[in-house]
Amino acid sequence: MATTRAEPEVIYEGIPASPGIAMAPVHVTARGFSAPEVYAIDESEIGREQDRFQQAIEITKRQLIELQSRLEDLSGATASSIFETHVMMIEDRAVVQRVLGTIADRLQNAECAFYAVMQNFLEAMRRIPDPYLRERTADIEDVAQRVLRNFSADSDARHTGPDDQHILVAYDLAPSDTALMNRRHVLGFATEQGSLNSHTAILARAFGVPAVVGLEGAVIDVMALAPAILDGYTGKLILHPAPDTLARYQQLAEAKARIRSSLEAVRGAATETVDGRPLMLSANIEIIDELPLVKRSGAKGIGLYRTEFLLLNGEEMPDEKRQVEIYSKLTCEMAPHTVIIRTLDAGGDKLPVEPLTDIEPNPFLGWRGIRVSLARPAMFREQIRAILRASSAGQVAVMFPMISGLSEVWRCKEMVRRCMDELEKEGVPFDRDLPVGIMIEVPAAALCADLLAPEVDFFSIGTNDLIQYTLAVDRVNPYVADLYRPTHPSVIRLIKRTIDAAIDHGIWTGVCGEMAADIRLTPLLIGLGVEELSVGPQKVPDVGQAIRSLSYAECAAMADEALRHNRSQGIFDLSLALARKHYGELLD
Ligand code: PEP
Ligand code: MG
Repeated sequence: MATTRAEPEVIYEGIPASPGIAMAPVHVTARGFSAPEVYAIDESEIGREQDRFQQAIEITKRQLIELQSRLEDLSGATASSIFETHVMMIEDRAVVQRVLGTIADRLQNAECAFYAVMQNFLEAMRRIPDPYLRERTADIEDVAQRVLRNFSADSDARHTGPDDQHILVAYDLAPSDTALMNRRHVLGFATEQGSLNSHTAILARAFGVPAVVGLEGAVIDVMALAPAILDGYTGKLILHPAPDTLARYQQLAEAKARIRSSLEAVRGAATETVDGRPLMLSANIEIIDELPLVKRSGAKGIGLYRTEFLLLNGEEMPDEKRQVEIYSKLTCEMAPHTVIIRTLDAGGDKLPVEPLTDIEPNPFLGWRGIRVSLARPAMFREQIRAILRASSAGQVAVMFPMISGLSEVWRCKEMVRRCMDELEKEGVPFDRDLPVGIMIEVPAAALCADLLAPEVDFFSIGTNDLIQYTLAVDRVNPYVADLYRPTHPSVIRLIKRTIDAAIDHGIWTGVCGEMAADIRLTPLLIGLGVEELSVGPQKVPDVGQAIRSLSYAECAAMADEALRHNRSQGIFDLSLALARKHYGELLD
């Protein structure tokens, strides 16, 4: 990783969202206007780049004046004065001087320098409390985008821009941005927003892309092309790393690679504790592209297929026929293992199923999960029919999200029965014994687990939401990220209560939230009596090895003690101590 000038090392601290180390130049993308291609220049090329900038400004000015006069003809002076302001913006001497200076100082191409200067300016504007001034950012973005377009006339073929491997730094990324990211080029990403359990972070872990979120101020300060290290283990973005930092991270990356290959050797081995308690280890999946990763991971099935990711790119829910194709492919590929298909869990921080006329003040407490499906019976019916039809291709189970009480379970089961009857009449094959499970992710469901258990075949605890709703801590809000405690006594009591109710009624309980993938907490979950763990495919080898290293009796004794403990940290430490004792080398 080369750097053009010796710059001091700068470290940004954030939340480690997806483990791994990436070493590459950064590529910055701001909100609203898109990043240009970025390449380094020689000192001899400074003048040429400065001319290119002046030329782009001139072209833009001409265009704006032309637009202004056209608009004057059409609508009079008022609307056309907008463009007058735009012209003034691009002629702003301070901006022009900063861009010219940045080209010379940073030895970067003109569009990159312009982009960086405008980006800083825009971010500063966005932080202004005055709503009128904040609104003006849209105008600046518009002009800036126009200037960037006007560079392209003479763009240099020599660029080494975002097509090369880089670390992406962004203010925020939507789950769809993350899913569609070119994983060959994006070696890791860092965002100012987000938290450990946002869907963006979950996807990063699923794809094995190192990620750090909640990095305050990064977008405004980071200069494109700066050499960097992204440490997804401890949550750091290190710009202009010093030679010893670089050497340390190179060593760490090599050590991690060695552990990975030793786990490779036992991939697919049975997952039971040393004293013979079997645990089902399955994978969470969001999009079908993850299938090869799941198969390579050694997972014994899919414990959670998040079907709301079918809505990526703002697409509508696919029709029944298309859904049958997708679910059947998944089922056939995973045979003889089971695929648990969760019905649509739209809303919250996820993709909406349809645009809402009014913005929800509290989306996580609003129209989300099973509430949406029950309110849209035609769509729900299509999904259930598709799941049933796929069940003729192999082992399938259906699971309902965001259940908060018995009546919702009855309504879901009624829909399953109705669809079964329809398919039977139509002579379409399906599995009459299709297991029906529910997510336990709302505290109400955990508290009433004894009422729900007789109605279903399994429980899967969604700890991401269970923790959020129990502790009243938004799972994607970095301001309260430190209050998000998986080992809070209330959370582990709810987990225990759920498992006990399941055992009483002869059904099994799994965990498919992110807590299941945290190997520091595997001893606690096993000790509490969980029978299945479903985790992102990248985490399957680690969790498998953790299971194989632990003794159930020892975990159960520790969990008993944990249930009597009064502090999250104390409970966490109890579990961590067993993890360290049995597989310290795997811990990050
Ligand atoms: C959960 O809430 O833990 C869960 C697995 O569901 P999701 O993360 O998709 O909300
Ligand atoms: Mg959930």
